[in-house]
Amino acid sequence: MRYNQARLRRLNTEPLRANGEYVLYWMQIYRRLERNHALDYALRCSRELGKPLVIYEGLRLRYPWASARTHAFVLAGMAANHAAAKERGLNYWAFVETPKHDRGSPDGHGLLHRLAARAAVVVTDDYPCYIVPGQSEALARTTDVGVFAVDGNSVVPLSLLGAPISAAAHLRPRLHKAFAEAWPHRAKARPVFDEIATKRVSAPFPTWTPPRDLGAVIRALPFGEPVPPVTSMPGGTTAARARLAEFLAKRLRGYAEARSQPRAPQDGHASGLSPYLHFGHLSIEEVVEKALHTTGDWDVHELRLHHRGKREGFFSDDADVNGFLDEALTWRDVGFQWHWHRRADTASLQTALPGWAMGSLRAHASDPRAYTYSIEEWEAGATHDPLWNAAQRELVATGTIHNYLRMLWGKKVIEWSKSPDEAYRTLVHLNNKYALDGRDPNSWTGILWCFGLFDRPWAPERKVLGVLRYMSSANTAKKFKLDPYYRYVESLPTIEAVRSGHDRS
Ligand SMILES: Cc1cc2nc3c(=O)[nH]c(=O)nc-3n(C[C@H](O)[C@H](O)[C@H](O)COP(=O)(O)OP(=O)(O)OC[C@H]3O[C@@H](n4cnc5c(N)ncnc54)[C@H](O)[C@@H]3O)c2cc1C
Repeated sequence: MRYNQARLRRLNTEPLRANGEYVLYWMQIYRRLERNHALDYALRCSRELGKPLVIYEGLRLRYPWASARTHAFVLAGMAANHAAAKERGLNYWAFVETPKHDRGSPDGHGLLHRLAARAAVVVTDDYPCYIVPGQSEALARTTDVGVFAVDGNSVVPLSLLGAPISAAAHLRPRLHKAFAEAWPHRAKARPVFDEIATKRVSAPFPTWTPPRDLGAVIRALPFGEPVPPVTSMPGGTTAARARLAEFLAKRLRGYAEARSQPRAPQDGHASGLSPYLHFGHLSIEEVVEKALHTTGDWDVHELRLHHRGKREGFFSDDADVNGFLDEALTWRDVGFQWHWHRRADTASLQTALPGWAMGSLRAHASDPRAYTYSIEEWEAGATHDPLWNAAQRELVATGTIHNYLRMLWGKKVIEWSKSPDEAYRTLVHLNNKYALDGRDPNSWTGILWCFGLFDRPWAPERKVLGVLRYMSSANTAKKFKLDPYYRYVESLPTIEAVRSGHDRS
């Protein structure tokens, strides 16, 4: 546990409450009952204080980019947690806000304060973006009990990854250096819920139980414009593990060579795990562990230390495993580490971008644009470019977007918007509204990468993009066979059908 002290942050100076009834784990983003560092810490508090553990998982009705899609994914996870908690005899208190809570008490916000008021200590997830830091800080400011946040974001605690970096190549050596020491300190695969932790506490509100027809409940909620659930990607730990197993057995082979080839998800080499990682239904530590074990009985001594800091060969001499882990660790951590230090900077391009990129965008701000589109046209996939429109249709219909096309998708919005600021607003809106993995650190840093973050200047200097890396649909078509991808997208509901609410797939 001493190593994992590096994951712990005290959010206020309030004392522990000696006569508190329980230890409260407020599960905000890492929504699972295993391999969860915050849960491990809450269990440790429970043992040391001799108090039962209460796990509180809530879902508000209104949150930025709220939709039936996000709700369905989160609620499927909550239903799975509800069943697993029941089996283990846990005090798992779920709260799902409905319109009736708007008209009277208790609403989600007041409820949390009431739960904290009876707690000996509050433990929560330390997540560096979206509404999570603000919510945690608000509770810590206004409650009179100690609040602790636990960084369960990745294998190496973010506080051990050093100063902010400007390129993945700078983070990789630090990550490789810290990896072997962090590895034995992974969260518990099977946490022990002892008699003290599971001692019954009665909830002061009617806790949520999964309805028989989750779909009908979600359809009745007032979300405004339809962003329907994605039935091909159900939420929850069981679905996440099934996806991981399928990927490792059938599609990891070929990852290094072919992951960028646009394909239907079931035919391609991308894992499709990012929504599960985002909502915490799956632990990144489990993903890494199981990927490494595809090579046999992997042990930390098998790290290729002479490849430390290099993209290839550090984790394994299996190029597919190594390539996958470079994305799942180095690239994923790039976004988390950046937000850890510079969360507030995502508010504008000026604060987020390196000087060379901002300077170049400014120098080309008044270049004439070959095309410009309104937000309605972007959203409707109504540009002149069939590949851009196809990527947008994939995003709207399935909540995912192929990684290579996601880069192209972002670059083209910059090129065909009136200004870089407008392009940034458009991309944040579309990504976070439709993508199941949206509202993640890598949502903002992925988008900002299109504007030059973590990249370098590229010659030749062009209109509009200046020295930002250029991508085009014509080059993509030369590089990859796109017919299978177009056929796949044609099989999906149209954007119009999805947005008019006529698609319930
Ligand atoms: C414009 C733009 C927006 C993006 N928005 C998001 C977002 O909202 N949420 C999000 O999680 N990622 C985002 N990314 C990064 C990347 O596109 C996704 O993480 C990846 O496509 C997820 O698909 P996968 O799980 O099949 O990836 P795989 O190839 O299977 O990779 C495994 C895991 O590694 C991580 N990963 C892979 N590629 C990247 C990458 N380039 N950057 C960071 N992490 C990576 C993800 O956690 C992913 O689940 C964005 C990238 C761009 C260019």
